[in-house]
Amino acid sequence: MSSRSSEFPNVFVLAIDSLRADAVLGDEVVTPTFDRLAHAGVSFRQAVCTATTTTPSFSSMLTGCYPPKHGVRGLQGYRLSSAVTTMAETFAEAGYRCYAEVTGPLLPETGILRGFHESRCRQAYKVPFFNWREEVISKMRSYAEPWFMLLHIWEVHRPYRSPPNFEKRKDKAGYQAAVHATDEWLAPVFEAAGDDTLIVVTGDHGEQYPSSPLQFQMLRVARRSRRTFRLGKWFPYLDNRFAGLEIGHGFALYEELVRVPLILSGRRVPAGRQVEEQVRHIDLLPTLADLCGLSCPEGIDGRSLKPFMDGAALPEEPAYMEAVGVKLGGDRIVGARTPEWKLLKAPGGKKRLHRLNPGGAPDERHNHARNESAVIRKLDDYIARVESTGVVAESGMTSEEEATVEQHLRDLGYL
Ligand SMILES: [Zn+2]
Repeated sequence: MSSRSSEFPNVFVLAIDSLRADAVLGDEVVTPTFDRLAHAGVSFRQAVCTATTTTPSFSSMLTGCYPPKHGVRGLQGYRLSSAVTTMAETFAEAGYRCYAEVTGPLLPETGILRGFHESRCRQAYKVPFFNWREEVISKMRSYAEPWFMLLHIWEVHRPYRSPPNFEKRKDKAGYQAAVHATDEWLAPVFEAAGDDTLIVVTGDHGEQYPSSPLQFQMLRVARRSRRTFRLGKWFPYLDNRFAGLEIGHGFALYEELVRVPLILSGRRVPAGRQVEEQVRHIDLLPTLADLCGLSCPEGIDGRSLKPFMDGAALPEEPAYMEAVGVKLGGDRIVGARTPEWKLLKAPGGKKRLHRLNPGGAPDERHNHARNESAVIRKLDDYIARVESTGVVAESGMTSEEEATVEQHLRDLGYL
């Protein structure tokens, strides 16, 4: 190993699309590989993403900024603002060699790959389960050090590929089998990365799935009747109930959609610590910069989590979040979350306040908006502050680029 690489650790960020926090942190799915990493490092048990849609979520994770600042407010037609600095640019500036391998909508046209010296985009459903593995492993072994690698994989995105035959399934059992298999198949990748590498494991957002094949069929019927009978117009109450029965992600900000696992392990990470406080994807860039001794971009929204990792305290900060999925038809749900409360603002401005009962089951059915005015004020102020920060949204895509992105989204079945 060169003397330079002993100064800067290699950094491997693995983001698994649609990976729910409870799939990794809970007991329902067997995940020995993730458990080993968590045991060897720090696991954040209350990490939340910024958006429940892939491209906006990555834009926040990779810039440390909320969407009003980085400008990516949906899957389509937005390009990362040139005013923000990406994680790859930060590492490249320090002399790292940067490589990205991403899937699905994270196309170069979105600007998300800015700063990587080399990148590869894979089409989501044309990737056989883990067929990329040997190539990534040999890349890790041969790449000029120090390296920063981002790997975004699609193996647990729906339709879930459920082993042993990788039959496609659409329910909870299929999802859990996909997570279990992914955990098992990843072991050689972490081994290749080595103990001396700083490893990050997270999901870009969570996932909502039907509990059984029968429930899947019922949800399909509900969805079809919403469209066919235009329930929203004639029976708004029923329409609202059915809307909550969606499958996938992007359309809401429920806990199973915004909670993601976050594990840091390897060089410069203390062993065996669990952090219970709320942390956010926007905190990842400043944390990695802090751990690696790099200068962090200025004016970002996130903060370094290193104090938590060292067992110290930090003042509580809310998490801003938004849902901008294709199913919302251009509308946007915004929210702010603390460990106790989550405030949601629907497109018309209607507010819902949910009690999250830290340590217990969150209650996302009852609306406390009428009797918790102090909480509402605090979270509403936070949303207003985030939304008022220098908006640097600039689509800047040529019509040709927009067409490329649109075609990919069509291939993904999103449009
Ligand atoms: Zn995603």
